Amino acid sequence: MQSSFLGSRVTTRQGDLALLHLSRDQQLPVQLSTIVSKAEDKGYAEGVVTNTRFGSFPHSTLIGIPWGSQVLASKVDTGSRGRGDRNQHRKRKADAISTDSPPDEAETSGLKQATAATSGFIHVLKPTPESWTTSLPHRTQVVYTPDYSYILHRIRARPGSTLIEAGSGSGSFTHAAARAVFAGVVEQNASADVGKEIPTKGKVFTFEFHADRHQKVKKEMVEHQLDAVVTATHRDVYKDGFWLSTDSGQYLSPKANAVFLDLPAPWEALQHLTREEDADKPSALDATSPVHICTFSPCIEQVQKTISEMRRQGWVEIDMVEIQHRRIEVKREYIGYRYEGMRGADPVAGNVDEALARLHQVEERAREQQTQGSQPAKAKKDTQGSTQYSAAQVYWDEGRLIHHSESDLKTHTSYLLFAVLPLEWSEEDDAQVRAAMPQLT
Ligand code: SAM
Repeated sequence: MQSSFLGSRVTTRQGDLALLHLSRDQQLPVQLSTIVSKAEDKGYAEGVVTNTRFGSFPHSTLIGIPWGSQVLASKVDTGSRGRGDRNQHRKRKADAISTDSPPDEAETSGLKQATAATSGFIHVLKPTPESWTTSLPHRTQVVYTPDYSYILHRIRARPGSTLIEAGSGSGSFTHAAARAVFAGVVEQNASADVGKEIPTKGKVFTFEFHADRHQKVKKEMVEHQLDAVVTATHRDVYKDGFWLSTDSGQYLSPKANAVFLDLPAPWEALQHLTREEDADKPSALDATSPVHICTFSPCIEQVQKTISEMRRQGWVEIDMVEIQHRRIEVKREYIGYRYEGMRGADPVAGNVDEALARLHQVEERAREQQTQGSQPAKAKKDTQGSTQYSAAQVYWDEGRLIHHSESDLKTHTSYLLFAVLPLEWSEEDDAQVRAAMPQLT
């Protein structure tokens, strides 16, 4: 079954992860299911129910509807109504999907909270790596969207790429990586069977040495139906590298062409990311392509150590970037030629004649636009018979674009260190090129 994180399926399905949008800053991740597990059985006649401050939402009202639907809260019954009244249930589902026009601002911002159990509503949203990052359970520091979008771009993660990640942490980067490399078709799951080639194209191989975190990421990948794209391995990568070992001890290569290391000491892992191989241990890298790496470290000393090791191992194009994500507010600001400004000294216009001439132009344009039925708003005559412009009108016409940066800047996250391990250049390659281009010799 295809993950709700991937593809373009338009309706919700049993088993999907959905984000219940409660307010602009609050989204509640839920696994849609009508099957009540014993552990979760709260005795509702409606089966699985998610309770929010906007009311109760039986999952039967959330499944099989278009993503983005507004769903009204239902009155739930904790057992007085018998289970299995299907018709009544179906009717409740039809009633719950609102066909009304979108709610106004006050409603979406939560003012219309459920005063009675059934007066609220939520929207059912399709999850994305971005929304998951803001709603996921934090087990570690995570990589946020501004960093991971740039990282994935720089390490050339694209459909069909093979990506190594360590450590998995809270799985924030893992979700974004899975979407980036997903090639549309899910090949068989990447199981490491003895003597078998494993499909590696369009896959993420994520490694984590903390047992509990590894288990949680692994479980999450199954729950989010991403386990066919992501293979989670429990491993200390400093010691044991990035191979996919089998029970018999055989080493299989993920054949990665993109690597992301979010580890305390990335330089210790680099020894396992070379092109060297011996009889029973292949290189973990793709022999047919250059490999792009990013390491993510909060301290410059970590970066320096990583760079030294990268140089020793033959990585080139070493380059460090720090993402300073700022929201920039862009708006139009009035700069002059306002009607009030005509009477006194206008700081921008300076010359009154010039200002009046400009005003006539504005007036002319306003008239033209009015006759075409568009902005700006009507100009009025004042008591002295002069034409008066609303501030908004001139603002619209004469404003210039300005921008302000957000005041509470999120500053340093980590230093992003990028490098490339080129393809190996053998004597044979050299001979071939020289044969093809004799002018080189
Ligand atoms: N990138 C992750 C995310 O976006 O959610 C967060 C990674 S977290 C900052 C670093 C993780 O690396 C931790 O979970 C830690 O247990 C793991 N780790 C540290 N040393 C490791 C090692 N030698 N091998 C594998 N994982 C390791």
